[in-house]
Amino acid sequence: MLRLSHFISNRDEPPRSGAYLDDIDPATGELFSEVPDGDERDVDMAVEAAARAFPGWSGTSAAERSRLLLRLADLIEERLDEFVLNESMDNGKPVALARGLDIPRAAANLRFFATAILHWSSASHATDAAVAGGGRAINYTLHTPRGVAGCISPWNLPLYLFTWKIAPALATGNTVVAKPSELTPVTAYLLGLAARDAGLPPGVLNIVHGLGAKVGAAIVAHPRVPAISFTGGTRTGREIARVAGPMFKKLSLELGGKNPTIVFADADLKQAVPGCVRASFANQGEVCLCGERLLVQRSVLDAFLPRFVERTRALRVGDPLEPTTDQGAIVSKAHLDKIRSYLALAREEGGEILCGGEAPDRLPPRCEHGAFLEPTVITGLAPDCRVNQEEIFGPVVSVIPFDDEDEAIAIANGTPYGLSASVWTSDLTRAHRVAARLEAGTVWINTWLLRDLRVPFGGVKASGVGREGGEDALRFFTESKNVCVGLG
Ligand code: NAD
Repeated sequence: MLRLSHFISNRDEPPRSGAYLDDIDPATGELFSEVPDGDERDVDMAVEAAARAFPGWSGTSAAERSRLLLRLADLIEERLDEFVLNESMDNGKPVALARGLDIPRAAANLRFFATAILHWSSASHATDAAVAGGGRAINYTLHTPRGVAGCISPWNLPLYLFTWKIAPALATGNTVVAKPSELTPVTAYLLGLAARDAGLPPGVLNIVHGLGAKVGAAIVAHPRVPAISFTGGTRTGREIARVAGPMFKKLSLELGGKNPTIVFADADLKQAVPGCVRASFANQGEVCLCGERLLVQRSVLDAFLPRFVERTRALRVGDPLEPTTDQGAIVSKAHLDKIRSYLALAREEGGEILCGGEAPDRLPPRCEHGAFLEPTVITGLAPDCRVNQEEIFGPVVSVIPFDDEDEAIAIANGTPYGLSASVWTSDLTRAHRVAARLEAGTVWINTWLLRDLRVPFGGVKASGVGREGGEDALRFFTESKNVCVGLG
């Protein structure tokens, strides 16, 4: 059993408190690692280390920063098996998903920003005399790193989302104090070791473990951390904004969702049925972008729904370490209880469970005490009931029929959230029209989860503020300073 430590100044540091939290393998219910129960003393130490490292790192050439981050990406790939196994056991996700998506994407995040920084340019304007107040000038923008960046991430895509923040922060010359979720800390710990082996100078990347209310809150409130990049729940995001707002910190909040998947009658069902199953249940439905509300045009409901349910039933739920498993364990018993409470609520609200809703009948002995739930399809609930309004974040989808495009859009937009949506239709004109009218940061047409890393990413409404991805991430982690040179 692994006992983790903080990673500060390239050293393994035990928590000041001397206390550790249990990190459980959700597929077995057994202790997987011990996580430092960090507090603000550990955060102070990490911020101190990051602040000390900042002048050196921000003064390091972009080419050298890029080289080190590319080396880190290489090390993740060289240690792929170790990262994959730990990500799967810590989170409960199928090993095939960790191998096919999470860990390769973590390496890709590092490579993307390590190379982006080599090509990033800033604008220069030959200013018109009339605008400049009489004289001619050259006005250019300098992008300078902000200092110590605070990066806080959730448990659902542990290393993927952790690196999505850390990579642009480091590439642009910031130093980092980062906190992974206390539920899934192991691959972040391994990343620290890899960063040291890659040659990152001490203090450039610091990782502090522990509870959000202690470690996360201390990072957010720290006066020497001017930028906070946070991904997690909307309630936590609200608390972070409450603390960081009056301190005028630069804030990126990637929050929850209640995403609609919309199937029009003209959709190609051969594509739409498997696409919607994936959008509903990938990673046990624990992807912020999963569609929890499946809006189906009434005229195609009888053709669509039996095929959708049949395909859902065919998903193999079981041991995450089995390479053929489609659906692994729910991240924790507590989260499983929360999901189950929504199934009880669905019944109370008059819904019917068409499939799933229980633990699978047969699990290997190793997984008998694990947190499992069969993928669940609910029908018969009004769009405004709680099950269709609140984020469940599990393998549960609620089917809502609609008659026409206007109704689909009204239902889709009728929650406090606005993270993503997917639309299934063969009508190209409709696809563009609907995409423009949906209140969502990302809209997919006849696909789901595909994304070019260069595009801005993020939600609207209660799904967050700020945009990550591509140049938006580089801009987030830098100050834009205008320099105006008078030409007489
Ligand atoms: P969470 O908000 O409980 O925790 C996220 C992180 O914040 C964890 O590291 C946690 O320890 C920390 N934290 C908790 N309280 C804090 C506080 N007061 N101050 C600072 N940090 C604090 O979320 P979670 O349960 O880990 O993740 C699930 C949520 O994340 C879902 O709502 C999901 O939709 C959302 N999510 C959003 C995106 C996105 O890109 N929009 C991506 C993935 C997950």
